[in-house]
Amino acid sequence: MEYRKATSVDGAEAVVEWADAGPNSYRDVTGREYIDCLGGFGIFNVGHRHPKVVKAVMNQLRRQPLHSQDLLDPLRAMLAKALTMLTPSGLDYAFFCNSGTEAVEGALKLARAYDGSKQTIVAATKGFHGKSYGSLSASAKAEFRRPFGPMLPNIEHVPFNDLPALADMMTSCKAVGEDVGAVLLEPIQGEGGVNIPSDAYLPGVRRLCDEFGSLLILDEVQTGMGRTGKMFCCEHYDVAPDLMCLAKAFGGGVMPAGAVVGRRDIFARLFDNPFLHTSTFGGNPLACAAALATINVLIEERLPERAAKMGERMLAGIRRGAAGHRDLVVDVRGKGLLIALEFCDNTTGFEFGKRMLDRGVLVSGTLVNARTIRVEPPLTIEEGQADYVCQALAESLNSMSGRITTGV
Ligand code: PMP
Repeated sequence: MEYRKATSVDGAEAVVEWADAGPNSYRDVTGREYIDCLGGFGIFNVGHRHPKVVKAVMNQLRRQPLHSQDLLDPLRAMLAKALTMLTPSGLDYAFFCNSGTEAVEGALKLARAYDGSKQTIVAATKGFHGKSYGSLSASAKAEFRRPFGPMLPNIEHVPFNDLPALADMMTSCKAVGEDVGAVLLEPIQGEGGVNIPSDAYLPGVRRLCDEFGSLLILDEVQTGMGRTGKMFCCEHYDVAPDLMCLAKAFGGGVMPAGAVVGRRDIFARLFDNPFLHTSTFGGNPLACAAALATINVLIEERLPERAAKMGERMLAGIRRGAAGHRDLVVDVRGKGLLIALEFCDNTTGFEFGKRMLDRGVLVSGTLVNARTIRVEPPLTIEEGQADYVCQALAESLNSMSGRITTGV
């Protein structure tokens, strides 16, 4: 057991107690512990090495780790059934893969195969969907795209959270005969800086998709599996997509696993020839065992509800800690346990990350840079740990105030 003393903003001393590197922290080679507020970029929703997920995978490992493609594996069917019950109504079919980018590739291919007369995909600026060609073409980071030459054709980008811009794009695509087959969005943009849309945005996107006969693909790779305080982020907005992409925490932080779930009529394109889209390892028994156990844990331990509650506590604590530091922190925002601090510049964000690490807390920038720092802990984070993170944050900011030269 390790004890640690830390000084809070008002000078009072708090003692934080740690058990052995538990489900919410890392221990480095010197034995020092760090509260994990990065969560493996969102894979550790049920904590590190959740015993039920590990047990399910170990049992399956002894029985049969990988599958034969020609045989039907009951675990895959059980997982597909569980997903049907878990996801918004109408998403009755699933394709299993190994990562987020593959889930998005699957969704893009299904969308294009659905209606040959509508081949344009609209995505959002600042969106991130992965780095294989299709997903990268839908992602909006010039830095990641530029070295790799022409992207997939007929993929357009509009500003996120801007319904008129989307309506204009869909109208002009239709006018030139390049109709929009699908709109692909993250319900909250994760890597783009935890950008939370207005409450009216997703319902508005749904309405536009219905009006134009376009599919709505929601990329819940980062926002899914309880992260934002609901099992899936789209539930906050009462919006059901036509296709939904899952990965990251789907494998419980134990196995890589991904899925695209969707409507029967969209998947029907594969019924005649299921070999149109396949993956050797997708839906393997180990991944399915992990995903099924993860779903059980999320429900049993009411982790989405916990994310909502702890998210409110942390957001309030972070806001308190950041108050009075407008010179450093431009904005604090979040939903559930997907929280971000936006700094005045990259250098300041990076320095903050370093000072948090000195205080035993692991945070990180988004995939763009360190201007936006993410706080994305396991949903199992304890109250004492959450409070310590907020205290370390206040201390870090206090220690930086007036000492950072911006723009360096
Ligand atoms: N979509 C979203 C929303 C993501 O955040 C990510 C990863 N950060 C991906 C897709 C890609 O996932 P992967 O790295 O597993 O391919």
